[in-house]
Amino acid sequence: MNEQHHLNVIENTNRKQRVAEDQLAFGKEFTDHMFVMDYSTEKGWHHPRITPYEPITLDPAAMIFHYGQTVFEGLKAYRTEDDRILLFRPEKNFQRMNRSSERLSIPLLDEKLVLTYLEELLRIEKEWVPKTAGYSLYIRPFIIATEPNLSLAPSNTYQFYIILSPVGSYYREGIHPVKIFVEEEFTRAVRGGTGMAKTAGNYSAAYIAQQRATDKGYSQVLWLDGVEKKYIEEVGSMNVFFKIGEEVVTPLLNGSILEGITRLSIIELLKDWNVPVVERRVSIEEIFQAHKEGIVEEVFGTGTAAVVSPVGELTWNDEQMIINNGHTGKLSKKLYETLTAIQTGKQQDPYGWTV
Ligand code: PMP
Repeated sequence: MNEQHHLNVIENTNRKQRVAEDQLAFGKEFTDHMFVMDYSTEKGWHHPRITPYEPITLDPAAMIFHYGQTVFEGLKAYRTEDDRILLFRPEKNFQRMNRSSERLSIPLLDEKLVLTYLEELLRIEKEWVPKTAGYSLYIRPFIIATEPNLSLAPSNTYQFYIILSPVGSYYREGIHPVKIFVEEEFTRAVRGGTGMAKTAGNYSAAYIAQQRATDKGYSQVLWLDGVEKKYIEEVGSMNVFFKIGEEVVTPLLNGSILEGITRLSIIELLKDWNVPVVERRVSIEEIFQAHKEGIVEEVFGTGTAAVVSPVGELTWNDEQMIINNGHTGKLSKKLYETLTAIQTGKQQDPYGWTV
């Protein structure tokens, strides 16, 4: 490792007062340290360091504020019963971050090297990984364009950060199905756009639809393709699966869908269990038709936050469809239990997913 990649650690001597684990909300509490690294056109990525968690000082003309040149990731560290700290397929997150960066004209990171930096940060912060079952330490890597310049062109300087946030369980009262509104007016992403990237604008552009759905008593929206408003893309910020008869179907990645790591793991698990699983275009009409025929057995969203989130009800225009009598399906439950058991080390990991 050359000098410009040597990791410096500046210890925080002023440790935070910690909130009791049962009071943790999502993403409001942060640990004592963070990871930072700089980029310049001359030096490339350089000066990796772990520093006390502190505010960032940026020029008001920094490009991140104006044109949103930024990408992020989200993954979790889990504490096992025998006090080890596990990450779930973290290399996939850094690979995806590089795919996002490519789309946003941000310079790529050395995926293997940044994983070693994350591991070092976690060694320093390991006491922050919650001990309560179902709780975890949420990891948020992100890159921002820092050059003070209002020109419309990629920044010449960037910063890469990793911050850590202890979080509670997504399901405080156990896994339960949610109500979903099929969104017909707003679009999350289109093919050729930025839907396959984890970049800020995709998320802020979704707030308006989410807010309207919340006001109507739904917990999330189901996103349709932006061109024909016909094909299913994602649910909230999760990928989506349908169990129709004996077969499990999920939308084919088409450039506007985010390639979820939970999605990938579920496809691999189903194949391993010899459950037929296909990636293809699925229209909303097909799902409502299949429901009329009584063969839609389960619908669920998948993502790092909830792992598996069963859907109990879908509303499309004025049509309402109740799935599995509003109960969690058998397959959804088995997938949730298997994945969480592997992630938390309760079950031996036959796939080599945990680090
Ligand atoms: N879709 C979107 C839009 C997301 O933001 C996420 C969360 N990263 C997912 C799907 C699920 O991805 P993963 O399983 O990697 O968390």
